[in-house]
Amino acid sequence: MPVVTISRKGEERVQAGHPWVYRSDVQQVDGAVAGDIVRVEGPRGRPLGFAFFSTRSEIAVRMVAGPGEEPSADFWRTRITAAAAYRESLRFDATAYRVVYGEADRLPSLIVDRYGDHLVVQALSQAVDRALPAITHALVDVLQPAGILARNDPRVRLLEGLEQRVEALYGTVPEAIDVREGAVEYRVDPWRGQKTGLFLDQRENREAALRYARGRALDAFSYNGGFALAIAPRCEHVTAIDISADAVARIRTNAAHNGRANVEAREMNVFDELRELQRTGAQFDTIVLDPPAFAKNKAAVRKALSGYKEINLRAIKLLRPGGVLVTCSCSYNVSESMFVDIVSDAAADARAEVTLVEKRTQGRDHPILLNVPETYYLKCLILRKVA
Ligand code: SAH
Repeated sequence: MPVVTISRKGEERVQAGHPWVYRSDVQQVDGAVAGDIVRVEGPRGRPLGFAFFSTRSEIAVRMVAGPGEEPSADFWRTRITAAAAYRESLRFDATAYRVVYGEADRLPSLIVDRYGDHLVVQALSQAVDRALPAITHALVDVLQPAGILARNDPRVRLLEGLEQRVEALYGTVPEAIDVREGAVEYRVDPWRGQKTGLFLDQRENREAALRYARGRALDAFSYNGGFALAIAPRCEHVTAIDISADAVARIRTNAAHNGRANVEAREMNVFDELRELQRTGAQFDTIVLDPPAFAKNKAAVRKALSGYKEINLRAIKLLRPGGVLVTCSCSYNVSESMFVDIVSDAAADARAEVTLVEKRTQGRDHPILLNVPETYYLKCLILRKVA
């Protein structure tokens, strides 16, 4: 097996429980090529374990096993079985959920989502890409899907020198798959939908929102109507807004399919529409804000914070006393405390008294790996405007 020797700093990082070693901490590479599984050693030859090796990414080494756990022929099957067993144990009332969440399942850079009888995979490093035939074999063996789609179009693949490509790896994968989340049925397009088709990480937050929702509601940044459809049974009327015509068409299809005549979809820019609603004196009992990641990198944090501040300030003003705001940020670069601070500033500027009812994160099928802060990205606050 090829050997990669890393620096003292890299060694300390691995021993502190972080699986990534940056290129600047790689001292020597003996015989490793793109996507190999390598033996990793410290600067004095201490065995640190086994890792995926990349020749292109800044993350040159992704640890997958400790020194006594050399990956054998059934590596993929064993890891996928463990990941699937954990999801099974959660007994979700849903037919769509994440089966493998990268680092948190000791399978860095591999994503596997389940949509009913179909699986959608993403290979986000050279090693996982090279292993796709073995991964496909293991997935078929463990989960017996009707089809497997590779949604290998995320831009991060370019950093690995991998092309963007969407293709069926096994069986057939239709353009419309019907899945269920609690009482809501969705029609999902795994080939073209955002992410792998649905925002699965918000499933439990959609369920939580239902517990508080009532009256006149606004679901801003709705995509295919996830929050709107989840809360509709408790609300008189829900306005779902998205800037994408394709998303709005999905909201309408899903609302009709679920018989939710009280969900109305509008193709608009949320920033403009919140301003307009405020101007006309509109009031709501429930508002959901689930924008895309405003801070895709550290340089974008300042601008992102002002975006979060603006939409939260306007939403708090639009709420009636007693109203509920479900506000989310999926920017990894905006920490939980930064997000709470921004929303607190918004409440102060709105001269509103607001209580924090629940502090939530991504669903349990996307577990946060302690010591790997990058796996904690989604924040979801449920707030109540007291006065
Ligand atoms: N709430 C959804 C996920 C939302 S993803 C769910 O639970 O599934 C973010 C959505 O915001 C995307 O659909 C994107 O099209 C939309 N979007 C991005 N910028 C926007 C803007 N300025 N105004 C309205 N929608 C926007």
